Amino acid sequence: MAGIYIHIPFCSKACAYCNFHFSTNLTYTQNMVDAICQEIAIQKKYLGPQPIIQSIYFGGGTPSILTRNQLQQILETLRQYFSFTQEAEITLEANPDNIYPENIKTWHHIGINRLSIGIQSFNNHFLKLLGRNHDREQALNAIDIARQNGIENLSFDLIYGIPSDTHAHWEEDLAIATRLKSQHISAYQLTIEPRTKLAHQLKKGEFKAASEAFVCEQFTSLYHTLSTHGYEQYEISNFALKNYEAIHNSNYWLNHNYLGLGPSAHSYNGKYRQWNIANNQKYMKAMESGDFIITKEELSKNQRFNEYILTRLRTKWGISMEKLMGNKQWWLKNNIDLLHQFINKKLIKKEGHQLYLTLEGKLLADEITLALMLDE
Ligand code: SF4
Repeated sequence: MAGIYIHIPFCSKACAYCNFHFSTNLTYTQNMVDAICQEIAIQKKYLGPQPIIQSIYFGGGTPSILTRNQLQQILETLRQYFSFTQEAEITLEANPDNIYPENIKTWHHIGINRLSIGIQSFNNHFLKLLGRNHDREQALNAIDIARQNGIENLSFDLIYGIPSDTHAHWEEDLAIATRLKSQHISAYQLTIEPRTKLAHQLKKGEFKAASEAFVCEQFTSLYHTLSTHGYEQYEISNFALKNYEAIHNSNYWLNHNYLGLGPSAHSYNGKYRQWNIANNQKYMKAMESGDFIITKEELSKNQRFNEYILTRLRTKWGISMEKLMGNKQWWLKNNIDLLHQFINKKLIKKEGHQLYLTLEGKLLADEITLALMLDE
């Protein structure tokens, strides 16, 4: 089983915090769609002779700004070269300002069965600070419209750690998301990325970044509120009601193969990791000329070992002592003291042969992961 990711590198406006790869010049979306379809043909062998595709994910950028015909063109080209499972999860990232009854009906009609809605917050003041293109009203309407017109399976993107004097708005965001019973919630901490509008404003002293303690409190309340409402935290930033874990994201964390299409997209097939150039014009030119530039890297044993720790420790599946020993017995021998320290500090819990981060451990996930990884 494998997944396919399609990066649509366009947004109608740049959000204040975003450093993803996208352009606000929408004049060449059709050329980009054509280039992506060409890449599908070029990459058809990357996942092996007859891969069965379990998930398709349109991400970006803002894939919901594509027309029905453009989305359909990509899906039809994919169907020409790959077999999908009958119940394949087909997700479209959609911004609330692109959600209308007609759009939902056509997306549903062409096979999209899951929306990941970029809500970020239900608070107009914070939406403005984040530079989002929608307001609370549009977000609430978008959710109703999606459900009434055929797409039931929704994921909400939310952002915590937005600078504020209180936690009131975060509590309210969580209350609304749980009341609306979004099947899936992805909650990300606001990070101030270099060269973004927020970084510029921070430098000018227009606001103060949230303290680490403030962010930790919001992460803790995220966990407790969502757990109380029946959501399982199956990865640090991802929560799902029963049977609604994202197949696509889970594939990444379970080390399954995936093909990434479009500028800046990454792929992995168990042996090689590769990524496309993060430049729209160069990507399209390469597709046109057939002179396709991919950066490719064969993973060393140490890199594979690190990849395992990096992806699995963040999840409910945890890491297996047996797997660690099987791969690197000497690693376990040398790191057993370190592991015991984490266990004694209640940052990691051990159940049978599995190791999992505790809630306290999740707050320090990056530091713990780094400590457990090998030099490459
Ligand atoms: S957050 Fe999403 S919508 Fe906003 S600029 Fe980034 S990719 Fe575009």
